Amino acid sequence: MNYNSNICCVHLGLDDFDLLKYGCTTHLATYVLNELPKKIGNVFLIDYPNLVRLNPSIPWKTRGNGAIAIRFCTKCDQLENAENVLLIVESIVDKYIDSMTKEFDLVTPDFEPGLVIATNVSSELTWIYEKALTDVIIFDDYLKKKFEERGIIFSQRYSGRGVIGALAAIAWFYKEDDYTYELLTYRSKKFYGTKRCVDENSVKVFDSITKNSTFNNYDYNEKRVLITPRGFDPVLYGVRGETPSDVKKALSIIKTCEPVVAWTIFRSNQATDAHAMQRSVSDLKPFRTGKAKIVIGSKPYRIRGGAVIIKAFDGTGEIVLVFFKPSQLNRIAEKLSVGDLVEVQGHVKKWNELAVFHVEKMVVLKTLREFICTSPTCPQCGSKMSKKGFGKGYKCEKCGYVDFNPKLTCKEKPRQVESKMYLPPLHAQKHLIKPLARYSKEKKFTPRLVQLIAVSETTNIIEPLQFL
Ligand code: ATP
Repeated sequence: MNYNSNICCVHLGLDDFDLLKYGCTTHLATYVLNELPKKIGNVFLIDYPNLVRLNPSIPWKTRGNGAIAIRFCTKCDQLENAENVLLIVESIVDKYIDSMTKEFDLVTPDFEPGLVIATNVSSELTWIYEKALTDVIIFDDYLKKKFEERGIIFSQRYSGRGVIGALAAIAWFYKEDDYTYELLTYRSKKFYGTKRCVDENSVKVFDSITKNSTFNNYDYNEKRVLITPRGFDPVLYGVRGETPSDVKKALSIIKTCEPVVAWTIFRSNQATDAHAMQRSVSDLKPFRTGKAKIVIGSKPYRIRGGAVIIKAFDGTGEIVLVFFKPSQLNRIAEKLSVGDLVEVQGHVKKWNELAVFHVEKMVVLKTLREFICTSPTCPQCGSKMSKKGFGKGYKCEKCGYVDFNPKLTCKEKPRQVESKMYLPPLHAQKHLIKPLARYSKEKKFTPRLVQLIAVSETTNIIEPLQFL
């Protein structure tokens, strides 16, 4: 907690607060960030608020399995102790929930919010982030006690399943991994549920001005704006990029015909492939994420709905791969042949009792050469010979001559699949997938180099009465 002699820091984790049709945890985080200075006094951050995406295969996620960490500091005497901080944060969250439920009265039955506070975070915690990102965590009292022994404080009021995501988000800090930023802007509550109105041309202008430092703003092939979500959530648009200053440019460039009532810039593991840990086939258990180098073991088979299914194997076992139609990877999968070597990235789901790997990205590493051979002519009578089946050679039907090993004239068949990386179209890329535009832009977060950031640089509620 003690950052230097006078300044004390707290890591706050939040998840699963999307209790309302129109709510989302980033919206709550924006409110908390803006309220903290009012309750605590002069508050600084040691990092932009974090939007940490976790395992996309978790069956009970609402949307993108995102959790939040806010890391704030102030003079030690203003904080008193961690329990006091928890009470302050809980009161802010209570007020948020009260206002939202009064206004909208749409509480969902599986409300599982989690609020966690940590004053002493270290790299020893990163395992919970790694596991929450790539596997399933069963959070029991034993595990909870272990964290409590390390000084982590769990809210009693907000102690649902969300504590897993909240802890994982806190733990991401020490992972020292690649990262990006996202500016999220929020809608006036008057507009909730209506179609979002963002000027397409201004999105293209923003894209061209920030070309090398932001990504996935606009799909020029499909002439489609990519920054607006489709659901009921309160986000108007979100732009992703490499630095806070680049994503912030959206506020002055992108034009909307409904007001932006608030914005927050998050640091995030989005668009980094963080979940794609290298695994062998035997390690691809249900609900895990990862990538595996694998040999195609069966002919591609198209099922109803357009998805393509292929069996594949490595030295440790066999698994069924599925390539879905929206990813357009199904079209490439159909061109694969038995013996091709590929690296597939995605996550494992259960189809009844069968573990099936849902492919979200694929690198074709090596394609087998394929040949078309013409039947030989009979050396006795000159007629075309015909194949008699595997290992049985060729036979001339006219004169009965049999040759077990004739000289064949063969031509190499052009393969319709290249050795390269294949990704879904931009609109079908999930949060964690690293887009092509980010290759070679990877960077590494270094916790010991953090500097204090003013809250106002990271967030602003412009119209409080329209925000909550
Ligand atoms: P929103 O973006 O609106 O917050 P969401 O898609 O992030 O919604 P949540 O409603 O937060 O989804 O639900 C995800 C739940 O799953 C949270 O309670 C989180 O703690 C939990 N969770 C996340 N990852 C794991 C994991 N690997 N194992 C077990 N539980 C997990």
